[in-house]
Amino acid sequence: MKVPFVNLKAQYKSIQPEVDEAIHQVLSSGLFIKGNYVAAFEKTFATKLGVANCVAVGNGTDALFIALKSLNIQSGDEVLTPALSWISTAETISLAGAKPVFVDVDPDYFHINLKEAQRLITPKTKAIIAVHIYGQSLALSELKQFCISNKLKLIEDCAQAHFSKHKLITAGTIGDVAAFSFYPTKNMGAYGDAGCVVTNSEEIANTARRFGNHGGLHKNEHLLEGINSRMDELQAAILSVKLNCIDTWNEQRIQHTDTYRNGLATVSSIKLPELRPHAYHTYHQFVIRAQDRNELRNFLLEMGIETEVHYPCALPFEPAYVFLNHAVADFPVAHELTNEILSLPMYPELKTEQITYVCEAIQSFYSIR
Ligand SMILES: *Cc1c(COP(=O)(O)O)cnc(C)c1O
Repeated sequence: MKVPFVNLKAQYKSIQPEVDEAIHQVLSSGLFIKGNYVAAFEKTFATKLGVANCVAVGNGTDALFIALKSLNIQSGDEVLTPALSWISTAETISLAGAKPVFVDVDPDYFHINLKEAQRLITPKTKAIIAVHIYGQSLALSELKQFCISNKLKLIEDCAQAHFSKHKLITAGTIGDVAAFSFYPTKNMGAYGDAGCVVTNSEEIANTARRFGNHGGLHKNEHLLEGINSRMDELQAAILSVKLNCIDTWNEQRIQHTDTYRNGLATVSSIKLPELRPHAYHTYHQFVIRAQDRNELRNFLLEMGIETEVHYPCALPFEPAYVFLNHAVADFPVAHELTNEILSLPMYPELKTEQITYVCEAIQSFYSIR
């Protein structure tokens, strides 16, 4: 049996008529940038999420950068960001001219550790990027309270957490601004690059919209220097189709985790993902902690099972950040996790037999050791 890590062809097949029709409509319209499909997507996405404004942009990294610029983060500022994340959550801080201040993550849910964050706050600290990593939301009201009491702007990175919740509050609705990615393999993915910024503030939304469109809302309007980062009509039309499916897809992911949890319950050499109380975890990734992780990964590959590691190196130890001079002891949790975490195949179209096969393969790996 083969179990690929992702299978985007299977998802396309399940929605092919709707997607093909959407693409055809855009091609026939002759309008490819800043048209009706983007406007309609922004509206429905904002409504479904429960925020006042959505600004569609080129990708999730730009969404973070535009979010930081819209909050006026600049040179001399410090921004708190987790040590275990995708590099976008650090590089965009530097790109805005500010300093990324890495914070270790908590060992249970792999989120930015707010106790550590508190310790690292200086008079220069202006904002925090909270990453709802792997699809599990931070404790949202606690996070909001932390930002209010420390006078920090809150940027939620929802690239891995489309419609995740904590205590019935949807991730992306409590921050000053939130960034989404629609990279093809995310829970809701475009057929190319796409992203968006959401916010309840009209002012932040307008700044974000201007910044992503050469500093203006209209042609030949340049109120400030910006960039070119816009979602295109094709991606918006495709994403509008997928917005009708995302709830079902998230539910299917959750069902798969039950199969994984049952199949792996007796394997003492691995640790299953912890579920935060009251969290609606949408499992962008199903991440276990495994003894002899690299050997397990090779064994599974020989059995036809693809896995990934998100991420093999904590950000402060990437060559890009040696200039910050960090030691392993600064981020002990993130460092330990990078040696143990393993992302198992997880997507709505997975078959129960495939998950069972993965579980049996993991069992047999540890039984012969
Ligand atoms: C994917 C991702 C991004 C960046 O999104 P792109 O659309 O690939 O630029 C940012 N943050 C996190 C946590 C991500 O997983």
